[in-house]
Amino acid sequence: MSTPLEDFIKKQIQHSGPLDVGQFMNIALGHPQHGYYMKQDPLGWDGDFTTAPEISQMFGEMLGIWAADAWTALGAPSKFALVECGPGRGTLMKDLLRALKKVEPFQTAAELHLVEISEALKERQEQNLSQYNPTWHKNLESVPDDMPLIVIGNEFLDALPFRQFIFEDGVWQERVVGIEDDELVFGLRPAGPLSKKLPKADLGDVYEVSPAREVFIKNVADRLKAQKGAGIFIDYGYINDGFGDTFQAVRGHEYVDVLKQPGDADLTSHVDFSALYKRVGKEHAQLTTQGDFLRSLGIVIRAQVLKKKASQEQARELERGLQRLIDLNEMGDLFKVLLISG
Ligand code: SAH
Repeated sequence: MSTPLEDFIKKQIQHSGPLDVGQFMNIALGHPQHGYYMKQDPLGWDGDFTTAPEISQMFGEMLGIWAADAWTALGAPSKFALVECGPGRGTLMKDLLRALKKVEPFQTAAELHLVEISEALKERQEQNLSQYNPTWHKNLESVPDDMPLIVIGNEFLDALPFRQFIFEDGVWQERVVGIEDDELVFGLRPAGPLSKKLPKADLGDVYEVSPAREVFIKNVADRLKAQKGAGIFIDYGYINDGFGDTFQAVRGHEYVDVLKQPGDADLTSHVDFSALYKRVGKEHAQLTTQGDFLRSLGIVIRAQVLKKKASQEQARELERGLQRLIDLNEMGDLFKVLLISG
């Protein structure tokens, strides 16, 4: 049985030919009615995946320290836009602002702007953040352009579409989604002029590019240069650009087939941080890992302070959260941090 979204995708393919991976992802995640992010709140243990702010309050608190520091470095402007892209349930921002409760000038100066496409998640954000009077935006364009910006995005970039190329028969081919026996299947088509931009490769190599992520980051960097400010984007990904198929679908905390039941699973790929770094330029960009970043802000000491006031059970939970966030075998190394300055 096909779902309504599967039928929609098949009709689209019958009408205008195979979709590239990015077009497929755009529909599967963003279709106004049936898209994955439109239908549900995908986060948490009872959802499909869990993110750093949902694991521990310390994540948002550390970003609070980073934001306060960035604001101070800007000369503590009396008005600035605090912008979060893809805020999920609003947990990160809630923890961030709570951590800075006592930094009154920051609270007074901050205008909260949330960039979100999901109505379901917007409701959750409203519940968590209404006291801060947020303004919602569908994209960055309508975010104020007449004041400094502090921009945050956790696991936002991986949700933006990307494309895949495979080296076969001595040339680059683009991976596309077509139909065979009424099922969605992968196929290949010539990569065309784009292939000139792709590196030398061996048979079977897969190379991923994400113009959408690059354009988005360039846009943020340009805004920060023009308006002054700072940005931080955290995601799973790689710093040394290379080959490999990282397209993944996650549902109920399990990996599932990327083409099965579009709209019911989260689709992502690993973020190529080296490409984003190059886009921003080395004068304005800095790359590190989540583990190093959180340690440098004092997360280990913060955990000790919290544990002193906690029950045994809570202390175990805090320690477990800390390890998940910073351990090299958990999120500490896989997750990278891109810092952008204006
Ligand atoms: N930052 C949150 C949620 C990560 S999930 C956390 O760490 O828990 C990805 C988030 O990005 C969701 O809020 C999703 O609805 C939003 N999103 C996905 N694609 C988007 C797009 N193109 N524009 C704006 N928001 C988007």
